[in-house]
Amino acid sequence: MDQITTLVIGAGQAGLAMSRCLSAFGVEHEVVERGQVAERWRTQSWDSLNLLTPNWMTRLPGFHYEGGDPDGFMSVPDLIALFDRYSAQSSAPIISGTSVVSVEPADSGFRVITDRGTWLADSVVVATGYCDLPAVPGSSRGLPASITQLVPANYRRPAQLPPGGVLIVGASSTGVQLADEIQQSGRQVTLAVGRHLRLPRRHRGRDVLWWLDELGVLNQPAETVHSIEISRHQPSLQLVGKPDHSSLDVGLLQDRGVRLVGRVLGITRYEVALADDLIANTAAADVKMAEVLTRIDRYITRTGFPAEDPEPFRPTWPAALDTPERLNLKSEGIETVIWATGYRRAYPWLRVPVLDDSGEIMQAGGFTPRFGLYVLGMNFQSRRNSSFIDGVGADAWTIAEQIARSIAGVRVA
Ligand SMILES: Cc1cc2nc3c(=O)[nH]c(=O)nc-3n(C[C@H](O)[C@H](O)[C@H](O)COP(=O)(O)OP(=O)(O)OC[C@H]3O[C@@H](n4cnc5c(N)ncnc54)[C@H](O)[C@@H]3O)c2cc1C
Repeated sequence: MDQITTLVIGAGQAGLAMSRCLSAFGVEHEVVERGQVAERWRTQSWDSLNLLTPNWMTRLPGFHYEGGDPDGFMSVPDLIALFDRYSAQSSAPIISGTSVVSVEPADSGFRVITDRGTWLADSVVVATGYCDLPAVPGSSRGLPASITQLVPANYRRPAQLPPGGVLIVGASSTGVQLADEIQQSGRQVTLAVGRHLRLPRRHRGRDVLWWLDELGVLNQPAETVHSIEISRHQPSLQLVGKPDHSSLDVGLLQDRGVRLVGRVLGITRYEVALADDLIANTAAADVKMAEVLTRIDRYITRTGFPAEDPEPFRPTWPAALDTPERLNLKSEGIETVIWATGYRRAYPWLRVPVLDDSGEIMQAGGFTPRFGLYVLGMNFQSRRNSSFIDGVGADAWTIAEQIARSIAGVRVA
């Protein structure tokens, strides 16, 4: 059995950032990864995926983007290469190809059992990802076996799909990107639109994320929002990282031939029951977008910040005010359903009593109720951007400092 001060589980951006910060504090540690560095990006991305955050937002502890295209959007192969370089430059002590199968309390810390040996660690940082597992509604079980079902993690390209139409459930960042790509490949896409956050890619001459960064919206602290639970369950921003900096929203998809319908309520074999909420959801997204853009406009007026004139606001008008209450997959020729319905987490290996009733790790700023056990990379962990590449570093510094102090015997309140 090996003894270690700190064991980090997972070598995605969170685990790598954590390792960099622990090294800076001189804390002995190892990073255990079941695959390779950036495993999630290597094995669960579709071919055309680019980051939706501009390159200048690729900031990690001890690293910021210095390439020639700060406003561009990185492809996944380039991102993986970047994480490989970052890991090498940090001399991150990564033990790859090793899965953690159990973490349990031990006398002075934790016993961590992996499929390649056991560790005794004074502290453990769980960095296994916010987007760990697909959150697929139970209604998916109502579909017959003849319908192909996919989640974004196992979608690669349109050619992999069987012939016929495609129903995509969910219109956040992933759903709208897949709907656009598959419709453009020549298939008829039907998009079931739930709650979503519409944003234009650019506003007043700059990337919309540049404005939100400038306004401090992206690193807004968790304690300053009205309800952290509501904020943590917001849908992802409806943005796409295209070389031409174009926007993508459900109105544009409709112009390109995608059929918009309401939220999926239930499924009985080929019959899909739909909510009558398409207009309500698109109108709510338009209002929210108008609020965000108005906030930016007010900032420009107040500060005199140089900016272009605003573009005219284009409301979303569903083609039919009377959207269908039912969809028959057979008569519509739909052979594939893609569940772009978000992510969940599961910690069957975590045998420390820190999980709440819904199975999430109880935490405040990454500190769990069990001293020495931390989590990193959760949505809105301490700030809005905690699960983003750009935001995970601040949380990693805080946790590394706490671990360093606990070694020195100083417990941070
Ligand atoms: C489609 C998509 C697009 C995104 N686009 C952006 C973007 O443009 N910009 C941005 O900032 N963020 C983006 N994100 C959000 C975020 O950056 C990613 O989810 C990112 O992968 C999170 O990094 P992480 O290190 O927290 O988790 P992960 O990358 O999920 O890493 C967790 C690691 O833990 C390992 N692991 C899990 N369980 C175990 C175990 N039991 N034992 C050992 N190892 C284990 C996994 O193999 C994995 O390598 C996107 C997310 C998704 C899903």
